[in-house]
Amino acid sequence: MQHRSAHRSLLVIGSVALDDIDGPFGFHRDLLGGSASFIARAAAYFTRNVSVVAVVGDDFPAKHIDELTEMGVDTKGIERKKGETFHWVGRYSNDLSSRETLDTKLGVFGDFAPKISPEQANAELVLLGNIDPPLQLSVLEQLKRPALVAADTMNLWINIKRDELLKTLARVHTLMINDEEARLLAEEHNLRRAAAKILKMGPSSVIIKRGDAGALLFHGGGVFAAPALPLSDVKDPTGAGDSFAGGLMGYLAYAGDLSPKTIRTAMIMGSVMGSFAVEEFSVDGLRGLTAPKIQERFDQMAELVSFESIRL
Ligand code: AMP
Repeated sequence: MQHRSAHRSLLVIGSVALDDIDGPFGFHRDLLGGSASFIARAAAYFTRNVSVVAVVGDDFPAKHIDELTEMGVDTKGIERKKGETFHWVGRYSNDLSSRETLDTKLGVFGDFAPKISPEQANAELVLLGNIDPPLQLSVLEQLKRPALVAADTMNLWINIKRDELLKTLARVHTLMINDEEARLLAEEHNLRRAAAKILKMGPSSVIIKRGDAGALLFHGGGVFAAPALPLSDVKDPTGAGDSFAGGLMGYLAYAGDLSPKTIRTAMIMGSVMGSFAVEEFSVDGLRGLTAPKIQERFDQMAELVSFESIRL
């Protein structure tokens, strides 16, 4: 899928992390994580036009960056600084339906100041991963004229940097968040009402990710639902949302247009890439995929929701 010409360029800004994860499958230390790690890998299956801006410490294994480069991702914007890589520790409940953050060590991520190269400033599609809202804004200020800017955020920023987040939201086209964050941001429990309130904050569309309940796209024209594929083996939900976002934006870069029809297909592709991510720890589920494997899962999604229209 990567060899079609005229792919749009995709710029990804986010965290690159080392994660410790506890849960029903045991305790795993120093796994590769971070929003940009999942987003870039998921997107790289669709286009060779992905570049990443992130920061890692001098403790970060070079092999992880080499692997991304081998996948065709431009990693020149991953800065290596003296100090420790961002480290996140999380624990999942036994049924994997919820998680808590046990520890966050910012390390070099604490004074991350994203620098966008002149080439990256021309990116057509931009995905602002979950980082401090003023940093998201500083990236937006360095861009020329992106066709689509999507942003993620999290409860931490909604709670402690609401005003700054609202400034960012006024300038993004699409907000991608999970259901809990949507409720917190909109101060509204009902998701449809929450989405309507968020659309008034600036974005022209909002995508609400709901774990194994799939994702909803709300925009002026209505709502679209992408289911999550029911899987028999789920090991580690970390990065599901980011892989969804990477699959969606990667597919948009590949398809080259932003029509409502293409965006619906991209939502399904997001769900497909999220499904691969959760089957293994860290980014392992996103390794070694091929166009036929992705196609097979896309077809399963189509089958899952295919039904006949009737006329009563
Ligand atoms: P997701 O499961 O898609 O929400 O993303 C999980 C990833 O987010 C993990 O690999 C973490 O390293 C990363 N992460 C957790 N907390 C933060 C934070 N405060 N800022 C940036 N990235 C984070």
